[in-house]
Amino acid sequence: MNTTDPAGRGVIVTGAASGIGRAAALRFADEGARVLVADLDREGAEATVEEIGRAKGTAVAVVGDLSDQRVVDRVVDTAVGTFGGIHVLVNNAGVMDRMSALGETDDDEWQRTLRINLTAPFLLTRAVLPHMLAAGHGSLVFTASEAGLRGGAAGAAYTASKHGVIGLVKNLAVMYRKQGIRANAIAPGPTATNIRVDAGPGAHGPATIGPLISTTIGRIGSAEEQAAAIVFLASDAAAFVNGAVLPVDDGWAAT
Ligand code: NAD
Repeated sequence: MNTTDPAGRGVIVTGAASGIGRAAALRFADEGARVLVADLDREGAEATVEEIGRAKGTAVAVVGDLSDQRVVDRVVDTAVGTFGGIHVLVNNAGVMDRMSALGETDDDEWQRTLRINLTAPFLLTRAVLPHMLAAGHGSLVFTASEAGLRGGAAGAAYTASKHGVIGLVKNLAVMYRKQGIRANAIAPGPTATNIRVDAGPGAHGPATIGPLISTTIGRIGSAEEQAAAIVFLASDAAAFVNGAVLPVDDGWAAT
């Protein structure tokens, strides 16, 4: 039975104004899904919606900070009102930290990173779950990171946030499998997007993710390569895949 295959389904993609989220939104729409583009960046979100519209797809944007419960409620209300249900949620929006070791991590860097990367997916997933439970099916896909699998890929805050995302995914998978809801994650390696290290004065580490990449094995991936894995995990092709963390990284996790 096709329960979470994209065609005709309501899909929420966060962080879809840019990078991996944008590529996932376009790909879901291309496969016939109706897509809610959720992002802080109004211009980028509207551009994604317009691009989907030009390709004769269906999309709507909700703009705001996803760590704000009111924005989360607006996302869910809009998706249910527009699509009649939410079949897939992709928790993808995220920010880098300043690459700081724990001793140099100030409260702002810690709280901002955890709030956007971990608390926002918690809030949105909690708000979406009742709709998936009522429908008896749903697919949750999270964008974790190589930094959720190892200690040397980012600063303390980002590393903790992405380990936290993977913990959420595994717990969701166990807690909701009997209700027909699956939760999985991709763990991207370095990918060409607009993400930036939030490096201010005093921060150590590279100013952008570029120099970091040069120390890793493998090539730089594209947002489209990450999106393909997200759409796979969301679909019925992955019906028996639950609680998995899929590295999409040209073998970095294997080193
Ligand atoms: P990106 O900066 O191109 O896109 C991230 C999007 O999230 C942006 O459009 C931004 O406006 C949005 N966003 C940020 N904070 C938000 C908030 N509070 N509310 C709503 N929207 C918000 O970066 P990307 O690389 O496409 O990042 C997507 C995900 O991939 C992130 O979770 C990131 O941690 C993860 N990731 C990226 C890489 C990489 O190398 N690019 C590697 C591993 C993991």
